[in-house]
Amino acid sequence: MDRRRFLYASAAFTLSGSLTHLGATGIPSPISGGRIVRNHVGVYTNRGGTMAYYLPDGAEGGVVVDTQFPEQATAFLHEVMPGRRRLDLLINTHHHGDHTGGNGIIAPLADRYVSHDRAKTNLTVANSSRGDELPLPLPSTTFADDWSVSLPDGREIVTARHFGPAHTGGDAVIHFENANVVHLGDLLFNRRFPYIDPAAGGNMIHWIRVLRRIRKTYDRDTVFVFGHAAESYAVTGDRDDVRSFQHYLEALHAYVRRERRRGTTLAALKAKTVTIPGAPEWRYGERLRDVNLEVMWAEVGGEG
Ligand SMILES: [Zn+2]
Repeated sequence: MDRRRFLYASAAFTLSGSLTHLGATGIPSPISGGRIVRNHVGVYTNRGGTMAYYLPDGAEGGVVVDTQFPEQATAFLHEVMPGRRRLDLLINTHHHGDHTGGNGIIAPLADRYVSHDRAKTNLTVANSSRGDELPLPLPSTTFADDWSVSLPDGREIVTARHFGPAHTGGDAVIHFENANVVHLGDLLFNRRFPYIDPAAGGNMIHWIRVLRRIRKTYDRDTVFVFGHAAESYAVTGDRDDVRSFQHYLEALHAYVRRERRRGTTLAALKAKTVTIPGAPEWRYGERLRDVNLEVMWAEVGGEG
């Protein structure tokens, strides 16, 4: 363990050890942070992108997908995996800070840390602008198309797949095969205007194709985990939710193309748009609505 790795690990356990969860009565409240989805696969929501995990019964090891921020990653260790000190695997769905900010806490516990090739590149770029903050650790293993591992407990297989540019250029879809739970990362914003990152290789029109491929790759029984959801909407769902989000992006594409052809300016389009015609359920997170219009406008312009 090099010094930086050691410092991260020490910080994790110092913070973890000092956290206490006291309810109104002053009695420690029961462990409550995670929610099991199926088998031993659970989700954790605190602040930032939804985390997923697999923790085998009565054995060390396990898998964590994404890490939110340092404070939330520390709370996760305390609430969801108290007493555990080792993981088989950390995987990031992509490089954004609300999914990787806690990597410095969790990566030192994991035998392997995996991401898509482009996510590592994106993380390296992000590290160069962290100023005085410690750089985030970088993945030990990366892949271009897919990557798979059978976990040492023999009860779960984890497969990561890349379906091409969408939310970023380095999105990975993580499948816990036996549980049939799939973490989509930010490939699905449930009933929220999505964030899109063209500078990191994202592409909104290709995102539609990616969702189509995802619906074909997984099945009716698959439970999907979403990076983000509008308030009062779930962070898990099924193939119909993937279809609904695909429909939102298709509606946005058709709308922007139609308005451009009519001669509407981007400024006028932004001024008059409240929801995208045909996709009224996407009305939360309106801070990002203009960005959706701008990015789609640029991409439609590139279609000629
Ligand atoms: Zn993201």
